[in-house]
Amino acid sequence: MANPATDASVWTQSYANLGEDFVTPLTPSPLPAPYWVGCNAALGRQLGLDPQWQTSEDMLALLTGNALPTGRSQTAGVYSGHQFGVWAGQLGDGRACSLGEIGGQEVQLKGAGPTPYSRRGDGRAVLRSSIREFLCSEAMHASGVPTTRALCITGSDAPVWREERETAAVVTRVAPSFVRFGHFEHFSHHQHHAQLKVLADYVIDRFYPACRNLEHDQPYVALLAAVTARTAEMVAHWQSVGFCHGVMNTDNMSILGLTLDYGPFQFLDGYDPTHICNHSDSQGRYAFFKQPNIAYWNLFCLGQALLPLIGEQEQAIAALETYKSLYPAALAARMAAKLGFANAHENQRSLIESILKLLAQERVDFTIFWRRLSHWSAGMDLADPQVLDLFVDRDAADQWLAAYRTLHLQSGSDGKGSTSARMLRTNPKFVLRNHLGELAIRAAKEKDFSVLHQLHAVLADPFAEHAAHEDWAGFAPDWAQSIEISCSS
Ligand code: AMP
Ligand code: MG
Repeated sequence: MANPATDASVWTQSYANLGEDFVTPLTPSPLPAPYWVGCNAALGRQLGLDPQWQTSEDMLALLTGNALPTGRSQTAGVYSGHQFGVWAGQLGDGRACSLGEIGGQEVQLKGAGPTPYSRRGDGRAVLRSSIREFLCSEAMHASGVPTTRALCITGSDAPVWREERETAAVVTRVAPSFVRFGHFEHFSHHQHHAQLKVLADYVIDRFYPACRNLEHDQPYVALLAAVTARTAEMVAHWQSVGFCHGVMNTDNMSILGLTLDYGPFQFLDGYDPTHICNHSDSQGRYAFFKQPNIAYWNLFCLGQALLPLIGEQEQAIAALETYKSLYPAALAARMAAKLGFANAHENQRSLIESILKLLAQERVDFTIFWRRLSHWSAGMDLADPQVLDLFVDRDAADQWLAAYRTLHLQSGSDGKGSTSARMLRTNPKFVLRNHLGELAIRAAKEKDFSVLHQLHAVLADPFAEHAAHEDWAGFAPDWAQSIEISCSS
């Protein structure tokens, strides 16, 4: 059991070893009188932390950026990227400070003060957005969506100015790597091809070693293909749980296919494919239904950045083209699972298209529909109204249920009970709806962190019934409409 605050031997580093072209050493700026806001005990265990870490003053200071692990340097990394479809130039870790790695997982403090890449920003994060990231990354992880994770939030009453006065918080984020498409774009744009190769070799050796297989005479093409596959998988997960990322800029795209940089994200309540969750996205570039194509566009930016290493443009295009079959296949697999089928099959396609159309027409609550269908499947009784009651056009819904039941019978499903059980482990009862995050935020602003803790526990096991929290599985209240989510965080 390790105490990273006092035991320097816990820490290793790999990305920071790439040197000063990639990272800049920095010292976090302390925050006055920090306190614990929320901790992720399960993640702490996975990292091998001493179980007392959540009450340790040393750890509180460490994870606020007020005290540093002895004999180590902290770093911020440089990257660039395309924001809203336009080259944005140099960005970088403007408010993230990497402490190093524990057990192969990089540990970053988000909001621990300015860095050489802060530009005009203050290097801080507010309590509100930190709570959203902390809750959502756990909810995503528990729902099986590839994501970075969050170990804890610490807070301070130090003021932070956004549209109004808020208070500061630091989220400790954890992932095998925080390398983004934008890292590659950065070195490529400046024609720093030696550094581009160092970066690509680092990512391949550490995370994609299979790209060095002899049959791949081109490891960088293999890397592009592997990232394409992971990204397709990630976006298929998003579409299947109704997750809208909100800012799919290339600097927010993980080279590991992890959901990264939780900002103005939103889970859909009523199913509306045209939904734009980010109020700053006036063109709707990142509307829910556009996410799969935007991911492809972003992969093209990555492919472009890798061209100096790949050489042959045709090879890069061929690697990218795989997205056109991988994404639909990944989505089909997710939808088959949601419907309770063991495998995706062509004969499910019209069933999927017709239900999504119907859900969109009536803006039926996406999470509640799938959860009720999962229960309905235990009996597949057409007279059972729990699903039908969600629809105004009951005839259309009735016909769909009949077709759905027929397909299950035809495909020789292994019994209704086991189909239902499988669906209940696929279709979460709880997602981080905007208004649920808001409940936790409002209480936390009054220094009551109990809602946050309870919600975190429920979202960590989103397939369980949690009878005491039935209200969190219900329809969004009317006031949820008025919550505005912008990039400001
Ligand atoms: P985002 O839209 O949050 O992905 O951020 C885009 C860029 O702005 C990244 O380089 C961030 O590090 C930087 N950034 C965002 N907020 C701040 C802030 N408050 N202070 C400094 N840099 C920031
Ligand atoms: Mg970002």
